[in-house]
Order: sequence, then C-alpha cells, then structure tokens
Amino acid sequence: MRPVTFIEPASIGEASKVLAAPDATAIAGGSDLLDELKEGTAAFTRLVSLAGIEGLRGIEAHEGGLRIGALTTVWELETSSLLTGPYAMLAEAARGVATPELRHQGTLGGNLCQRPRCYFYRNALTPCFKKGDGDGCPAAESPYQNYLSVFGGEPLPPAPSPPEERGRTPASAVGGCYATHASDLAPPLIALDARIVIEGPSGIRELPAAAFFTGPEVDVRRENALHPGEIVTHVILPPVSPGWRGLYSKARERTAGDFAIASAAIGYELVDGRMTGVRVVLGAVAATPFRSTAVEAVLEGRAPSEDVAASAAEAAVARASPLEHNGFKLDLLRALISRGVMRLAEHRNPSP
Ligand SMILES: Cc1cc2nc3c(=O)[nH]c(=O)nc-3n(C[C@H](O)[C@H](O)[C@H](O)COP(=O)(O)OP(=O)(O)OC[C@H]3O[C@@H](n4cnc5c(N)ncnc54)[C@H](O)[C@@H]3O)c2cc1C
Ligand code: SF4
Repeated sequence: MRPVTFIEPASIGEASKVLAAPDATAIAGGSDLLDELKEGTAAFTRLVSLAGIEGLRGIEAHEGGLRIGALTTVWELETSSLLTGPYAMLAEAARGVATPELRHQGTLGGNLCQRPRCYFYRNALTPCFKKGDGDGCPAAESPYQNYLSVFGGEPLPPAPSPPEERGRTPASAVGGCYATHASDLAPPLIALDARIVIEGPSGIRELPAAAFFTGPEVDVRRENALHPGEIVTHVILPPVSPGWRGLYSKARERTAGDFAIASAAIGYELVDGRMTGVRVVLGAVAATPFRSTAVEAVLEGRAPSEDVAASAAEAAVARASPLEHNGFKLDLLRALISRGVMRLAEHRNPSP
C-alpha cells in the first residue's frame, strides 16, 4: 500500500474542503476502502477520517420515524432496540452483512458508499471501464459473473471523440459496465422510503434512497449521486404504518461473511387478508438496487398464496437478460421472492 496522509477533521465543513480535491477520500470504518488501497485499485493520497466529527453516530426517534447517523456501525443496527416492527427488516439485513468483526467496524455510510465486488474491478492488473484504466469490460467475457448484473450492462454515455480518435469504436458501442451494487442495507432502506441526508460545499440536501444510487449510464466511475466534497451524514426513516412488516433475504456462495449474489427486501401490510402497501426491492442483480414495480403490481391487493408468490417470482425475472455465466441468479431471485412473500404471510413479524 502506498503511503497516505491521514486527516482528522472535527467538522463536516473542514472535511468537505479537503474532500473536494480528487486525491482525497472519506474513510469511516475502512473495511472496504483499505482493501481497495491495499489491492491498488484506488490510489488516494489523503484519507479524511469522519470518526472525529460530532453528531454522525447513533439512532434516534425523528418526526415519527428514525434518524440514523452515517457512522452508526452495522452491528449497532443489528442490535438496536429501535429497529423493530416495520424497521426490523433493516436489522435483519445488517445481521447478514459480512462477519461480526466487520459489522463492528463497518458503518452505515460506508456500506451505502462501498465500491463493487466485480472480481475484475478488484484486481489492479485488469484494466476496465469502471477503474478508468481501460476501454472494455473483461468481466462480460469471463466465467466469473456472480457479482454481475442480470438486467443488462447499462450502455455508457457516448464520449465526445477528439478528431484523432474518429474511426475508433466508441466505448458505448462495445458494451457497458455490468457490476452490481453490493450493499445489503440499501434494499431495505429503499423499501422503507428512506431519505439520505448529504452535506457538502453547497450545504445540506436530501435524496430518496432510490435516487442516491446511480448506474454507469450516469457515470461509470461512480455508484452514487454524491458530488465532490459531499458526505452522507444521516439516513432518515419516515413513519410506516404499524402493521406493515418486511424482511430481507440474500443468496450467497457461503453462508457466513459473504456478499449477496441476489437479494430481496419485501414488505407489505395485510389488510382484510390482502397485501397492501407492497414494496419489493431487488439487490445485487443490477447496477443499482431497484424497486421491482412489476412484482409489486402482482402482489398488491391480492391474498398471499403459493400461486400468487410464484407469479410474483416470474414477474421479477421477466425482463432479465443474464450474461452467459450468471443465468443461475434468476433461479435464486425467484426463490427469494416466492419464499419471502410466503414467509411474511406465515410469520407476520419474522424479525423481532
Ligand atoms: C470480507 C468482507 C465482506 C463483506 N461483506 C459484506 C456483505 O455481506 N454485505 C455488505 O453490504 N457489505 C459487505 N462488505 C462491505 C463493507 O465493508 C461493509 O458493508 C461496511 O459497512 C463498509 O463500511 P465502512 O465504514 O468500513 O466503509 P469504508 O471502507 O470506510 O468506506 C467505504 C466507501 O464509502 C465511502 N464512505 C464511507 N463513509 C462515507 C460517508 N459517510 N459519506 C460518503 N462516503 C463515505 C468511503 O470513501 C469509501 O469509498 C464486506 C467487506 C469485506 C471486506
Ligand atoms: S463489470 Fe464493470 S467493474 Fe467489472 S470489469 Fe466490467 S467494467 Fe469493470
């Protein structure tokens, strides 16, 4: 690992000033970033620690819902007595992240801003679009496609070609980036209509969690809507109907300490035996976690049953276009959806 300068600002303003420069990046728990620096896939020379900034930790009641600081650890989410009822799905997702050691170290903000797990992205020796050192996607032609999208690689925006490059194939014509988003906390946050609070050089702004995550069609080098100098400070969970319940389940290669290959956050309230306020968010199967409105439409207003759950599972994959070596993810997704819908119906409060 190359030498770095470690900076410990006491305020967001101070942190933002340094973070506006391209050689600086924020560090929270460091569980993802230090990996990147050691592997040589990131080359920042200044690390701006968020640890000394007041007010970025903890979970508190807020306007009928909850406000969670970005430095709250994954472990604190898992064990919080406030993440119950409708919010229990976030605690369930936290329990599935990595290992206990990493959950003590990793934070909510770092989880949402973590970089992709595509094996080629993580290898400094394989140039690619996302790392910015190549003009192709080696993963798309490889057998290692667990952490790649089954909903297509978003085409990259056409790059304006300088005159000397005319005649070369533009990046947008040779494919896109297929890396998926690895965060386990993102799908439940989108299902709960969470808002991400961001602070930076232009002040404070809030984004719906669904709009926070961005794909390669916006910028292949980034996975979120943060501008230079901005950090995530909080996540706000709005009030939810007390009878609404959700769950999060993930499929992974090993049961302990592994990233999702496919995941689903599913929630609804049973009103007169019918599923109401249905939310279904798919994770680890596309560049961003996303609400599957097709699945929600199948479930909304219907009584839960094996048949309805099976139709929902088919709707989840109807528009998928897997690569040569990751079609198996569609079966995982089907199972997560159909089992999740029924598990919620059978155990109305699956996560205490
Ligand atoms: C072996 C291993 C297994 C893992 N398994 C999982 C898993 O199963 N599920 C899962 O979801 N994740 C997993 N992770 C990924 C990740 O490390 C953790 O989820 C953790 O929560 C990241 O938090 P951190 O504070 O350590 O982030 P850091 O490493 O400190 O930061 C990660 C990224 O986020 C940026 N960042 C951090 N905080 C902020 C902020 N407040 N505002 C703006 N940018 C910020 C950093 O600049 C960096 O780019 C795993 C990591 C490892 C090493
Ligand atoms: S999927 Fe994206 S991150 Fe992975 S090799 Fe292709 S361009 Fe790089």
